[in-house]
Amino acid sequence: MLISNARAITGETVSIRTERDAIREVGACLEAQSGEDVVDLAGGTVIPGLHDHHVHLRAVAAAADSVSVGPPAVADADALRRVLRAAQPRQDGWIRAVGYHDSVAGDLDRHYLDDVIATVPLRVQHRSGAMWIVNSAGLVELGRPDHPTGRLFREDAEIAASTVPEPVDFASVSARLSAYGVVGVTEATPDLTATELDSFEVAVRSGRLRQRVLVLSQDAGHGALEFGPIKRILDDDTLDLDAITAWIRRCHGSGVAVAMHCVTVVQLVVAVAALRTAGSAVGDRIEPFAMVPEEMIDDLVDLGVTVVTQPNFVAERGEQYLQDIPAADLPQLWRLASLQRAGVAVAGGTDAPFGDLDPWACMRAARDRLCTSGAGLSLPERVSARAALGLFLGEPLTPARPGYLRPVRVPTSPCCPSRRPSFSVNCPQKRLPAP
Ligand SMILES: [Zn+2]
Repeated sequence: MLISNARAITGETVSIRTERDAIREVGACLEAQSGEDVVDLAGGTVIPGLHDHHVHLRAVAAAADSVSVGPPAVADADALRRVLRAAQPRQDGWIRAVGYHDSVAGDLDRHYLDDVIATVPLRVQHRSGAMWIVNSAGLVELGRPDHPTGRLFREDAEIAASTVPEPVDFASVSARLSAYGVVGVTEATPDLTATELDSFEVAVRSGRLRQRVLVLSQDAGHGALEFGPIKRILDDDTLDLDAITAWIRRCHGSGVAVAMHCVTVVQLVVAVAALRTAGSAVGDRIEPFAMVPEEMIDDLVDLGVTVVTQPNFVAERGEQYLQDIPAADLPQLWRLASLQRAGVAVAGGTDAPFGDLDPWACMRAARDRLCTSGAGLSLPERVSARAALGLFLGEPLTPARPGYLRPVRVPTSPCCPSRRPSFSVNCPQKRLPAP
């Protein structure tokens, strides 16, 4: 097929020849070949496919089968009770609720939930994604009837091991992504089980999941997937600088970069200190949720790490931030313009299902930084529409380097080895040995 009379984001008129879903030729004015389908874009803009650099696809699919209990839709304890009591159990017998925030009804525990629903297993996920709160019927199902609070912190793997795995509807998630123009995702859930990786592998091979998938973990022999930096979630309770430094050295020694998820400034300080000691490598990422003090920006530049950020939370959670965070700290929150100005490599992700899956909403938030009320949040951190688009134009392993329209070699199969990651990137950081 020939796409003619299109406009690249750089402004030039271009024609694009495609074959089997891949670009074969790009030129100013390509001639149609005999029998070739021609689509005249009449000056419409074409962009490279988008890549969401931080998403949790299995959780996105599961969220479609869950009840949402977060603000602003569910704003207080009465609304929470009403919504939970109206919910229907899923096929596995559980009521699964997501998006909870303490501003709705404080710190939930098993006893609170028992008072709402006593007989059906119920689990409620905090919107941070770090904790599930389970009622007593649910704790019995999980084989932990004596758990004192039902508050299970970072125990997704244990919950998955104790519940019936439900088929994940990758096809509908994939269709939604395609409708947004997303052609690739970075699956940011750490420590996926072999079964979970298998489900991605099967979905990609069968064509139910049409996006490229980079997984932030060690390659476990899944040929249809790509494996990238290994992700580690830093927690204040287990913040051991020596252990994290040793882990970085081990990862780099085996040829893989690291991705560190930092929720607090203390965690960010430790991540930076560990990278300074171990040395940073091409492909290392830091995912700060969401504060970066000004004095740490130079560290990020020096280390050459890529910051993967989620500016959509400015729009989605801005009202809460304005209530909860001291005004003096707001400029540190979900930085963007100041990072790019300083020379930090920055890429974007939606963090769906904790954020909205729509990357265009994320780009709008990066450009406008407006909360739902219309109030602005750290407006000096706004970036141009072009820069916001660039957050989603990077390749999976070079997320901060926007791609451009160019011909690609058509793979002989969806799992062609040519799609495997490569570390041959020019950069002052140390290069990693071949994995
Ligand atoms: Zn995430």
